[in-house]
Amino acid sequence: MANSRSSEAECQPAKKETRVLEGLFHLPASPGEQPYLIGSKCSVCGLVVFPKRTFCPVCEIDKPMDEVPLSRKGKLVSYTCARVPSEGMTAPYLMGTIDLPEGPRFISLIAGEQDINALKIGMEVELLIDKIAEEEGHDLIGYKFQPVKKGQGGDHK
Ligand SMILES: [Zn+2]
Repeated sequence: MANSRSSEAECQPAKKETRVLEGLFHLPASPGEQPYLIGSKCSVCGLVVFPKRTFCPVCEIDKPMDEVPLSRKGKLVSYTCARVPSEGMTAPYLMGTIDLPEGPRFISLIAGEQDINALKIGMEVELLIDKIAEEEGHDLIGYKFQPVKKGQGGDHK
């Protein structure tokens, strides 16, 4: 391990294959595009759910739901600090319940803040597609939400 060869090898990190959680979000095909989560909308009652489902949980009719793009921004309705890690993750990390304007409510990792005191119920959060865990040595790409930074007059991209 301590010879010059291995230290050279350390300077060239092994190319890690990334894995992406399928079917949950749309990744931009061009640089101008933004990623978004994919939900399902019931054509009968209008219910929107995330993650997408085949049939409406309310109507339970034999009619597939339609895929719909979801808003990139939502509200944080509750949050917690996870101290016991899920597989492939390093604790502690922040998790929150997100409400999207279309109706879906779901749990997500929270990015952009390490300090739980920086989070507030009702704050605006936005989607971030990022590494969420490691799976068998590969980076697993999924979704997170991060607080929308305010008061920076930000129009920057
Ligand atoms: Zn329905």
